[in-house]
Amino acid sequence: MAESEKSSGNSSALSALSTESRSFPPPAEFAAQANATAEWYERAESDRDGFWSEQADRLHWTKKWDTVLEWEAPFAKWFVGGELNVAYNCADRHVEAGNGDRVAIYWEGEPGDSRTITYADLQREVSKTANALAELGVGKGDRVAIQLPMIPEAVFSMLACARLGALHSVVFGGFSPGALKARIEDAEAKVLITSDGQYRRGKPAPMKENTDEAVAGTTIEHVLVVKRTETDVPWTEGRDVWWHDAVGSASETHTPESFDSEHPLFILYTSGTTGKPKGILHTSGGYLTQSAYTHNVVFDHKPGESVYWCTADIGWVTGHTYIVYGPLANGATQVIYEGTPNTPHEGRHWEIVDKYKVSIYYTAPTLIRTFMKWGEDIPAKYDLSSLKVLGTVGEPINPEAWMWFREKIGKERCPIVDTWWQTETGSQMIAPLPGVTATKPGSAMRALPGISAAVVDDTGTPVGNGEGGYLVLDKPWPSMLRGIWGDNERYKETYWSRFAEQGYYFAGDGAKYDEDGAIWLLGRVDDVMNISGHRISTTEVESALVSHPTVAEAAVVGASDETTGQGIVAFVILRGSAAKDGGEEAIKALRDHVSKEIGPIAKPRQIMVVEELPKTRSGKIMRRLLRDVAENREVGDVSTLADSSVMDLITTGMKDSS
Ligand code: ATP
Ligand code: MG
Repeated sequence: MAESEKSSGNSSALSALSTESRSFPPPAEFAAQANATAEWYERAESDRDGFWSEQADRLHWTKKWDTVLEWEAPFAKWFVGGELNVAYNCADRHVEAGNGDRVAIYWEGEPGDSRTITYADLQREVSKTANALAELGVGKGDRVAIQLPMIPEAVFSMLACARLGALHSVVFGGFSPGALKARIEDAEAKVLITSDGQYRRGKPAPMKENTDEAVAGTTIEHVLVVKRTETDVPWTEGRDVWWHDAVGSASETHTPESFDSEHPLFILYTSGTTGKPKGILHTSGGYLTQSAYTHNVVFDHKPGESVYWCTADIGWVTGHTYIVYGPLANGATQVIYEGTPNTPHEGRHWEIVDKYKVSIYYTAPTLIRTFMKWGEDIPAKYDLSSLKVLGTVGEPINPEAWMWFREKIGKERCPIVDTWWQTETGSQMIAPLPGVTATKPGSAMRALPGISAAVVDDTGTPVGNGEGGYLVLDKPWPSMLRGIWGDNERYKETYWSRFAEQGYYFAGDGAKYDEDGAIWLLGRVDDVMNISGHRISTTEVESALVSHPTVAEAAVVGASDETTGQGIVAFVILRGSAAKDGGEEAIKALRDHVSKEIGPIAKPRQIMVVEELPKTRSGKIMRRLLRDVAENREVGDVSTLADSSVMDLITTGMKDSS
């Protein structure tokens, strides 16, 4: 347990302080054509098994299941007895339904090259890749590690594994050899798929040199190498194989085998925001069912019409579920972009939206705040009228960023879906339905039809409206994790011991109900601060700071304090012109602003102006490192940071100012 937990005073629930009264109902025209209606909630409530059966019917099963759910807490089996092939569902069946010519992927490379891949192409490429992998000895139950840039081969590789019944373990392209090696070793992977190099902000950077270092001394028997940047690579004869040779010469046909609904599909390591990454295990039928269902209803996806774009990397769960499995199971036409949002210029995303007439755009709050920092005149230069639905995931979204997204990108026309979920939940859990829910800036609103969530206090009792506590999931769901790879004890301990008596899944996040019962995510429980016995959420104080016109980004932590237990320490990045003026006056204005927005109790003890914040590769703020700084400790493990030099900058700045 974190410090803040142990020292918790008399009040066990989180103080829910800030209030947000704006609410935006879906436009009538949108509601009239939406995939899901308000009745879905009741339908799911009255007959959960029947509801999930209907959702599973979205897929092609070679053998129908006998039982929807077998639940021996904390181990679930969904669609028991059913059989399917996940890759067949994501490619072949669309071709067989006459949609082989439909574009599956508009791929946009960073240097400006592009590829258009139809469903017929996808079926062919996946079959060839599956044949090549089988040739390298990959079969049912084997593990394949994948470290690739955002290129179509990444998608082909994942689906080829699924087709063969092998588990993939995708590792983000920017991870170090050490991080890759640890993941290869944990999963005992047999083959690694990688590339010669990858584009990084317009320049080719080596990749295979690093992966070679990771592979040495592990269980890897073969390395399959995609040529992307024409970078010279070291080569180990007998072990290394070029993609264009092996896949290039493989047969274009491959007959998919059927696998049990509970056959493992992949392992994915969590982002490591709070500690050592966990190898989360997902299986086939339930995972694909909920992925396809949520992608369809939450984005109001219309096959053959919508052009969908999720900006995540396939190295994260968002890329797995909302680039590969959900959209492709639904026969979506989607954009995949290889590069960074400011290469070669800061309008790149809007240029792509304009070029492909993107209608659904799914991204992360950290990126929205970055776009805000770059300025609204950049998106204003492009035609964004094709957009219909906007989505966010990854962190609580500050109301300020939500409103900016709504006004500057969605032109007050597009519903915004703030989707709460985790690597562990496999797909979206709490989110508005865009044609049904009146949304509030900063709230994920309520659990989706078929999903059950609650906010509870220390004893597991649901809190009332206007109160905060712990977010739990009180009923099993189809895409739930089936365990931590090789460590059932850690699985039980991490997720099921906190509310063992009630049998609730403990998400590790704090949340509150507002006066109308809508759910607001308040950040991680480990990050909750305890100020004179009041448990205050980092998210609320950060949102208050970000709502001040001079602040671009903020991170808040609780540092031990002799009088109050903990004191609030804020790290802020100031916007453009304000950045030059980080003086005493400016700091005082910010402290007063927080006091006015939330209350005097939330006034930061100290505010540090910084140039960058420590973030994971997926863009999440690592508050535990800032807590180390605020408490003058040696800074902890920085191996999953996107840029570890950021911490040096911050610690030096801290010493200068004290
Ligand atoms: P680790 O578990 O290793 O510390 P992580 O939790 O960052 O890493 P992910 O599974 O990628 O790894 O992230 C899930 C977490 O992201 C959630 O538990 C929550 O804290 C946060 N999150 C995701 N979406 C939202 C959202 N819409 N609103 C608020 N928080 C969100
Ligand atoms: Mg987590």
